Amino acid sequence: MDLSRFPRLSLARLPTPIEPLPRLSVHLGGPRLYVKRDDLTGLGLGGNKLRKLEFLLGEARTQGADTVLTVGALQSNHARQTAAACARLGLDCELILRRSSHVTEAYLHGGNVLLDRLFGARLHVLAAQDSREDFMAMRAEALRGEGRRPYCIPVGGSCGLGNLGYVVCAGEIMAQSAASGVRFDAVVAATGSGGTQGGLVAGMLLEGGAPVTGIAVEGSRREQEALAAAQAFEALRLLGRNHADVVEQVTVLEDFVGTGYARPTDSMREALSLAARFEGLVLDPVYTGKAFAGFIALARSGRYDKEQDLLFVHTGGTPGLFGYPESV
Ligand SMILES: *Cc1c(COP(=O)(O)O)cnc(C)c1O
Repeated sequence: MDLSRFPRLSLARLPTPIEPLPRLSVHLGGPRLYVKRDDLTGLGLGGNKLRKLEFLLGEARTQGADTVLTVGALQSNHARQTAAACARLGLDCELILRRSSHVTEAYLHGGNVLLDRLFGARLHVLAAQDSREDFMAMRAEALRGEGRRPYCIPVGGSCGLGNLGYVVCAGEIMAQSAASGVRFDAVVAATGSGGTQGGLVAGMLLEGGAPVTGIAVEGSRREQEALAAAQAFEALRLLGRNHADVVEQVTVLEDFVGTGYARPTDSMREALSLAARFEGLVLDPVYTGKAFAGFIALARSGRYDKEQDLLFVHTGGTPGLFGYPESV
């Protein structure tokens, strides 16, 4: 897939490695398990959003932007990676973050929030009921009034352009698969704002690769499937492709959300523990812990035999561990 007509900055260390999980695979007694280490993209402690930011900030740079704004939850990994990328590029960064009813010291000041401040971002912290998008639009308008050139990034960096980062990732998986001879029977990733799954689905459609299953970390299956399908569609539209069958390619499992976004579950705790104790692999409680719980459930489901290969995309988020230490 030729993406060279889209301005793109190099922010992430790519390709990220694919590693086997041999001890965990034996322990679970099912298919062979692997992990694509998108937690190791590097800049600002890494994570999936850097892939999207390569395209988004490429556009910001082309437009001559001097200030980047984005929105997220208070402990947003996307916001933290945006702040780190802006530091690297010499751009001002303003983060519009919404807090939940959580009131621990770690949540309010630790983890990603600590890093946002360290990277020099300006934080606007909103109450749970406020609209982040309205605030961002208002703030961008005020900046324009001061003669500044703001560039606004939607939640999670999910939009046609940002999702191209995960079309790239699908291409990487296919190339690594061809080089190693391991053909994946399924690819599994956490899904939130939908761009990661949407980009992977679009990329796999274009490359003829494996089916992608999203594990919801919020919302219902129907809501999350609609989001991911819309994000896949936007990416394909930008590439001038119109796949009528996008909707059929989007599968989301909703059974691992528990009582809501960032609320701990027993299966998340088990996933963190198994990944850590069998493989020395660190997951986070909000995204990858719940997604890995879904991955483990698929491995245990009996749907795949011992000769099949399943890939988990580790989307990062490890600083979140230190924002929610009590969930572990
Ligand atoms: C943002 C995020 C996701 C979800 O990606 P979306 O593209 O928003 O669906 C998954 N894992 C981590 C660690 C994230 O920060």
